[in-house]
Amino acid sequence: MAAAPSLYVHVPFCASRCSYCDFYSSTPSGPALESAARLWLEAIREHLERLEPSFGRDGFETVYVGGGTPSWLPGDALAEALRLIGRVARSGGREPSEWSLEANPEDVDERLVDTLLEAGVTRLSVGVQSLEDAARRLSGRRGSAADALGRLEGIAAHWPGRWSVDLMFGLPGQSAEGLADDARSVIGLGAGHVSLYELTLEEGAPMSRAVESGAVSMPDDDRRADQYEAARSELLAAGFSRYEVSNWALDGQECAHNLRYWNLDDWLAVGPSGVGNVSSGPGAFRRAANAADLEAYCADPQGSVSESTVDGKDAAFECLMMAMRTSRGLSLESFERRFGIRAVDAFGRLHERFPELVRLDGDAWIATDRGLDTLNEPLVYAMSEIERSWDDIAGRSVVSV
Ligand code: SF4
Repeated sequence: MAAAPSLYVHVPFCASRCSYCDFYSSTPSGPALESAARLWLEAIREHLERLEPSFGRDGFETVYVGGGTPSWLPGDALAEALRLIGRVARSGGREPSEWSLEANPEDVDERLVDTLLEAGVTRLSVGVQSLEDAARRLSGRRGSAADALGRLEGIAAHWPGRWSVDLMFGLPGQSAEGLADDARSVIGLGAGHVSLYELTLEEGAPMSRAVESGAVSMPDDDRRADQYEAARSELLAAGFSRYEVSNWALDGQECAHNLRYWNLDDWLAVGPSGVGNVSSGPGAFRRAANAADLEAYCADPQGSVSESTVDGKDAAFECLMMAMRTSRGLSLESFERRFGIRAVDAFGRLHERFPELVRLDGDAWIATDRGLDTLNEPLVYAMSEIERSWDDIAGRSVVSV
């Protein structure tokens, strides 16, 4: 069966807003949530039905339901959405190779597990962030650390599929010892995948304002480095590999859906603020950005989409930048097939210029472990090289695919 695109579904609802977050979501509850969820469901139904005939009619290779907080959807709306998504994903007799859904630990109970299993969800991605009460409180996370841990124990006992946990470092109120304990706990419970993100202060997020006003203080560079190192040691000791800048997995537990993003494979997106990407010719991609506005999206899902094309040196650089985030790195041969130019002509000989950060392994440029922490330097260099050389190499290249 030929490769099919992947599907991202954005669920734009959360129980409450975390103070650092800038993802698109709103926080209706009770009857307001019921009716907003119904409108959202009808909108994604319409969007899926009207996808171009060439996409999504032959099923989807992987599915990712994210948000927002998909597990916060009212039970009936969630079950109906999953039935709809499953039907489309399995078009043409395809069974998605992976189907992930994001959940907050507070929402996970036996009923949710049954709903997900019945629909065919294979992988749960659980947003924990921290199991330290001070860090949870200052970040606006729902529930106490003890509640979250109890729910994780429930997942370990009742969820038979793969599961992943999101942890953060650099949170106010967090400690290196605490983060090491968190990593040990989730690994001990059986999570086979851990996403380990550093807190970034997003402009306009409540936490940024609290830091600016002095109400909250951020851990300094040394403390953040200690926290990262503490989590890293636990993950390495448990046999996890860092397969992307912020993602660690046991063998075979990497997220296939996210690997498709980093490889710039085709994916479609439904739901407000979702962004799809499909190849639109040799070395070019079409981006489709759904309105980050529930009302506008629901009024006309397809009409709310803003389309743009990424091509030329922008597409080539993005391909390098995304690939270098992963432990697979950039295959020089597939880059040449995709863009009709040699990566060394476009970006310079990165492995020779930055031997401590980028190595040449077979046919691929792969970031060293240190390189994964400091990709900026080679990427800035690569960008200046392609800016300088593009007109010349594009003029003499023959794009072959
Ligand atoms: S639950 Fe997730 S999406 Fe919702 S506000 Fe918190 S971090 Fe953002």
